[in-house]
Amino acid sequence: MRDFAYQGAESLDEAQHLAAHPEAMLLAGGTTLVDLAKCGVAQPERVVDIGGLKGLDHITVSDAGATIGALAKMSHVADHPAIKQNFPAISESLWQAASAQLRNMATIGGNLLQRTRCAYFRDPITFPSCNKRAPGSGCAAIGGVTRNHAVLGTSTACIATYPGDLAIALVAFDAVVELGARSLPIESFFLAPGDRPDCEHDMAPGEIITAVTIPASPAARRSTYLKVRDRQSYEFAAASAAVGLELEPDGKTIRDIRVALGGVATKPWRARAVETALRGTVLEPDTVRQASRLAVEGAVDHGDNRYKIELAPRVVARAILSLGEQA
Ligand SMILES: Cc1cc2nc3c(=O)[nH]c(=O)nc-3n(C[C@H](O)[C@H](O)[C@H](O)COP(=O)(O)OP(=O)(O)OC[C@H]3O[C@@H](n4cnc5c(N)ncnc54)[C@H](O)[C@@H]3O)c2cc1C
Ligand code: SF4
Repeated sequence: MRDFAYQGAESLDEAQHLAAHPEAMLLAGGTTLVDLAKCGVAQPERVVDIGGLKGLDHITVSDAGATIGALAKMSHVADHPAIKQNFPAISESLWQAASAQLRNMATIGGNLLQRTRCAYFRDPITFPSCNKRAPGSGCAAIGGVTRNHAVLGTSTACIATYPGDLAIALVAFDAVVELGARSLPIESFFLAPGDRPDCEHDMAPGEIITAVTIPASPAARRSTYLKVRDRQSYEFAAASAAVGLELEPDGKTIRDIRVALGGVATKPWRARAVETALRGTVLEPDTVRQASRLAVEGAVDHGDNRYKIELAPRVVARAILSLGEQA
């Protein structure tokens, strides 16, 4: 790890000012940044600790929706009674993320901005070619072992998956990322790799996530997050789905449905084709399974990760049908 200057920010203004320096990086819970510094991927000259900033760890829920401060801990949000009641998918996505120790340290803002777990990205000594880390250097994953890589939203420059769970649930329910002076719908906050995989978010130097807001909706209130992974805990998703469902008063016709995918795409992936196919139809297994195949429309595999094209629609269908059973 290279030497760096450490500075604790006293105010949001100060943090924004310090963060605008090109070689500075923000530290919240540190569970991603310290890892990346140790493996030589992050090489900050100055680390700006925002962990002590006051007023950024609030969780408020009203009839209009929820606002979650960027420094709220994952475990606090997961366990918040009003989040559990009004946004079960948000709570479940956090409960299924990382470990209890990590969730107690890690923050909502840091969780959104975690980096890919692509093994080539995280090993710069053995694999110098990585367009995300060193733009223009190539991609060691393409032609390599791709079991954990993406099948949606990829480019010829990068096929790394976005690894987080929370952002998948946030994308399904139209959350907004608050950046102080401006707000962005979370879907446009995350960028697909294209020919600049190093540009992962629509954020300018010095911008800091202050909060995320999630509008209330009946679909968010009846929602779930289903994560399929190689082992039951402490593991990133092979495929996951955040799903929300609102039925007509007849109890069987779908009025509103939200579907987003994790583990299979380069950014949190909203599956709008599934939503369009199912809205207005009667909720029954064959229709749901057929529509769920649209979740992987346009998917491109790289051999080892072909299984995700089969797996993801099954995860989506299972999540939707499990919500239907609760109706
Ligand atoms: C072993 C292991 C397993 C894990 N498993 C999962 C999993 O299954 N699912 C999952 O979702 N995550 C998983 N994680 C990732 C973990 O959830 C993240 O490390 C954590 O959420 C990051 O939060 P943090 O506060 O520690 O961020 P930090 O490490 O402090 O920061 C992460 C990044 O975000 C930036 N940043 C932080 N806060 C802000 C802000 N407010 N504004 C702007 N920039 C900011 C930092 O500069 C840094 O670049 C795992 C991590 C580990 C180590
Ligand atoms: S997939 Fe992306 S992150 Fe992984 S080696 Fe290729 S360019 Fe780097």
